[in-house]
Amino acid sequence: MMIEVNGRQYAKPENPVVVVCVDGSEPGYIEEAVKTGDAPFFAKVIEGGTNRLAKCVVPSFTNPNNLSIVTGRPPEVHGICGNFFYDTESDSEIMMNDPSLLRVPTIFKAFQDAGAKVAVITAKDKLRRLLGNGLTMKKAEACSFSSEKSDQCTLDEHGIEGVNALVGMDVPSVYSAELSEFVFAAGVKIMERDRPDLMYLSTTDYIQHKHAPGTPVANAFYIMMDKYLGQLDAMGCTIIITADHGMNAKHKADGQPDVIFLQDVLDEWYGKNRTRVICPITDPYVVHHGALGSYVTAYLPEDLSRDEVLDRIRAMDGIEVALTREDACSRFQLPQDRVGDIVVVSNQNKVLGTSADRHDLSQLKEPLRSHGGISEQNVPLMSNKVTDLPDDAALRNFDAFFVGLNHTKI
Ligand code: ZN
Ligand code: ZN
Repeated sequence: MMIEVNGRQYAKPENPVVVVCVDGSEPGYIEEAVKTGDAPFFAKVIEGGTNRLAKCVVPSFTNPNNLSIVTGRPPEVHGICGNFFYDTESDSEIMMNDPSLLRVPTIFKAFQDAGAKVAVITAKDKLRRLLGNGLTMKKAEACSFSSEKSDQCTLDEHGIEGVNALVGMDVPSVYSAELSEFVFAAGVKIMERDRPDLMYLSTTDYIQHKHAPGTPVANAFYIMMDKYLGQLDAMGCTIIITADHGMNAKHKADGQPDVIFLQDVLDEWYGKNRTRVICPITDPYVVHHGALGSYVTAYLPEDLSRDEVLDRIRAMDGIEVALTREDACSRFQLPQDRVGDIVVVSNQNKVLGTSADRHDLSQLKEPLRSHGGISEQNVPLMSNKVTDLPDDAALRNFDAFFVGLNHTKI
């Protein structure tokens, strides 16, 4: 039986398909953990399964990519292109975590309508309503909840209750590795209990923002993950592992963040606040990245030539591309109505901010690692069971469900 979702056809699976979005999982983290000898599941995947690279969506941020993965399409289709967009009509910055801003149904919704059981678990609650949009919550058939608010789950709103007792863990701190561990632990318990047809597990990049691949804390995080994924593997699940984006060091030799404060630059060139720079990475949980990423968009007054502004920005050190809205939307598959007049992407080791006084960097305890740019576009696409992907397939992370559902050989 095939199920159509947003113009793509997906097979209803015999055995459960689990897609894991490991937030900020730059290629190398998993391979380094395998080298310790303590990650047998990942070792098996690399040895006999599929281990490929895929491209994520730019801006390489969490929400646009999670929504791309669960709808199977890029932001020009689903509408979520950052954590924030600027609404010119109301002159306000609007947070894109409200389901009303999502323009198409998710794969979960379509599968539930076709009689499948689904389970959606995310670390931070900010994604929960978007990912669970359209689902009719029902015990043992459809649930969507977060580790962060796991103690507040009700059957009506989340399709599950008593999560902490089921998992055997209290609510973890929002800034911890345990917030992600909870996602996996809950996934294993729900797989044992309900055996959903589709499961989605989405973590947070708290560890990846602070610890590079191969470092002890990063290895411990992936070894933890390996243990739970090994249990899902033993239950016969097809597992697809991908990431919402990669992660790179974005600091100078002295450990200070390497930032271009673009609002300050444009204010100096054209006068204070004549332009408006939006950092779509900004969210209520900024401690680990200081709201600094490698992608910003800016709105310009009508009397300012976009070409002139773009030429001046392109001449600056550390800029990877500076594009008009039209060029950026066509290149990155973004919705025109939620992107500014220009888009600026910094290179691998630089980040972009608004004004220096609008970023609180005092909470950054480690040298900055972040994402958002083209330089964080490579992510893993791995599977324990899929082994027949064509060598030349140009993969996107939002092909994860397609690959898991349509290319499984058991
Ligand atoms: Zn992320
Ligand atoms: Zn992040």
